[in-house]
Amino acid sequence: MIFFTHLLGGVLAVAYFGSFFGIGGSGSVKIVAIAVAALFSILPDIDMVKSKAGKHLQPFSTVLSLVFRHRGFLHSFIFAAIVYLGIRYLLSPAIAAAAAIGYSSHLILDSLTKEGIMPFSPLSKFRQKGFVKTGGILEKALAMAIFVLIILKLV
Ligand SMILES: [Zn+2]
Repeated sequence: MIFFTHLLGGVLAVAYFGSFFGIGGSGSVKIVAIAVAALFSILPDIDMVKSKAGKHLQPFSTVLSLVFRHRGFLHSFIFAAIVYLGIRYLLSPAIAAAAAIGYSSHLILDSLTKEGIMPFSPLSKFRQKGFVKTGGILEKALAMAIFVLIILKLV
């Protein structure tokens, strides 16, 4: 999926599911959670130098793209769990939950594409694939539906 769809997906996921993971309270807490989820929803593509995340996070993306193949370990729920545990240890459970929700939303959306992801890499080479072409008409329709759901949640 493309950058903007992932951004919308991260916001949607934390807006609808954040309260299940202890994210709630004041409006400012929710805004921070949305910002964190949005940021982490685009991070998995750091394994691709040409992605928006990859371009902005040089030279890390070059190193990571040499070590990990695109849609490999960084596109797995195992890495999402490491992200969660690392942020939980360094910062707080709520920020870790928002980051993990955003990161996982990216993986779920990419699993709907024809290329798919390996959700348990490197433990398993099982690939979860869908039928959506990245940047195609179905993805645009999905992005529009996500946008409408976000608006419905906010009003
Ligand atoms: Zn991706």
